[in-house]
Amino acid sequence: MMNYPLTLAQILEHAHRIHGDKQVTTLLPDGTLHRYNYTTLYERVKRLANAITQFGIQCGDRVATYASNTYQHLELYYAIPCIGAVLHPLNIRLSTEQLAQIVHEAEDKLIFVDSEFREPFRALQNKTACKQAIYFDPTSMDDDVPYERVLSEATPIPTWDIQDENWAMGLCYTSGTQGEPRGVLYTHRSMFLHTLAANQADVFGLTEADVVLPIVPMFHAMAWGLPYASMFAGADMVLPGTKPLCIAKLIAETGVTVAAGVPTVWAQVYSELYKRRKDIPRLRRLIVGGEAMPLSLIEAYEKELGVEICHAWGMTEMSPTGTFSKLRGAHRGLSDAEKWRIKAKQGRPIPGVELRLAAETSNGFTELPWDGETVGELQVRSPWTANRYYKVEPTAEHFTTDKWLRTGDMATIDADGYMQIVDRAKALIRSGGESISSVALEAVLLKHPCVHEVAVVGIPDEKWGERPFAAVVLAEQTNENISDILRQQLASEFPKFWIPDQFVFVDEIPKTSVGKSDKRAILRMFGPTTSG
Ligand code: ADP
Repeated sequence: MMNYPLTLAQILEHAHRIHGDKQVTTLLPDGTLHRYNYTTLYERVKRLANAITQFGIQCGDRVATYASNTYQHLELYYAIPCIGAVLHPLNIRLSTEQLAQIVHEAEDKLIFVDSEFREPFRALQNKTACKQAIYFDPTSMDDDVPYERVLSEATPIPTWDIQDENWAMGLCYTSGTQGEPRGVLYTHRSMFLHTLAANQADVFGLTEADVVLPIVPMFHAMAWGLPYASMFAGADMVLPGTKPLCIAKLIAETGVTVAAGVPTVWAQVYSELYKRRKDIPRLRRLIVGGEAMPLSLIEAYEKELGVEICHAWGMTEMSPTGTFSKLRGAHRGLSDAEKWRIKAKQGRPIPGVELRLAAETSNGFTELPWDGETVGELQVRSPWTANRYYKVEPTAEHFTTDKWLRTGDMATIDADGYMQIVDRAKALIRSGGESISSVALEAVLLKHPCVHEVAVVGIPDEKWGERPFAAVVLAEQTNENISDILRQQLASEFPKFWIPDQFVFVDEIPKTSVGKSDKRAILRMFGPTTSG
């Protein structure tokens, strides 16, 4: 067989040759839509690639982006890796100090900046050694290098020269939900294979007829691979830009068929989508991940809006897709309630990914059964899973001696292979020597109509080690003793010691840089040092 290299240049060339007329639509900051097709994107990428080399960028150099989901960012998703350099999307929502540390570690040589973020970027630039920046906005300041000028002055690169599919193509940092962000380096081969796997019919299942809206930011876990998967499939893409205030309007206007984002986004836009439900007949599927999608929200979308919810689990370390939750043919006869219960699980490993449940013993790990009940540490391996963190030697904390990734998640797997996250190992509440799942408590609390949002954390406790504590956002104010009502709701499903000692009612749950519940912030707010 031919030794055909698996590189992103093949995806770009295919999209151009076979799907040149397909559209990329971007919501601009002024609310208008920018539109062009893959042929135009391709021509711009070829010029951009040459321009980047003229800034002295060579094979293996890191080139950062400080941008949201826009057509320029999509162009960079191809131009940077296709000249052999490494695309490094910076998470614009991290603190300046964290980003300065990340840019320093990555040794970024050049940064592309969405002009909407000029001010925070300047603060960052003052703290980094990387002084070369190119700004997207054509109306740039005097000292800015404008993207469009760079592009118009460049000639198209004649050929792509990626000599080895194992060359690095991208560098992403974890979002830092549980500690400092860690870097993960992807190769052309790993991203190409992830693209093929993600696009299978029983996974994202994107087709040429789809219009795909990644709300997941392009700086979070490579936008779940959608910029590559969508273009390889020949789907149209819709990019929500910097301020996607009215997602329902964007979905309606552009005929989006598949959209992807964290559960928080879908909880926020539900009522807006419900109001416009007649305008969104084409919306067929939401891909949801990053955090557990509550069953009640899955039910609302499927029952009231007729939109299929596909729950996905993954990690920055896995490019990021690991499992995908779709029903099996054998589930056809189940009731809706039974179907939603299965869909609330994180799903089955996508082809190419291996999962195992493990328990630590004195001399390594033993494998645990797939019975849907036994909880163990989730370990994974695949051609698109990292075997180390960037610039850090692999340690036993993250990798086993037989080279599986320790995900840091505790889970069950049932006999059909459906994995369900019980909690992150570090978030599991240890009370009197027993484990309490914050995820399970949150899921039951969310079933109560008065509860809009909830986060359960373990608060240090002298007697028990930790005790559960619930921060709740109410859907509406009520005169009833809601803490007692919620306690009763939990008592019907969990042992007594699981029931939180305290319920605190808040206006909002703090969120991480990518929209997940920020449990570390909740602990800081309500932990023993501040609450006294
Ligand atoms: P961070 O660890 O900083 O949040 P990632 O965004 O890569 O960085 O997060 C990966 C983690 O997110 C997983 O290990 C898991 O704990 C959580 N996660 C991802 N998808 C889901 C999901 N569908 N349900 C529950 N947890 C999820």
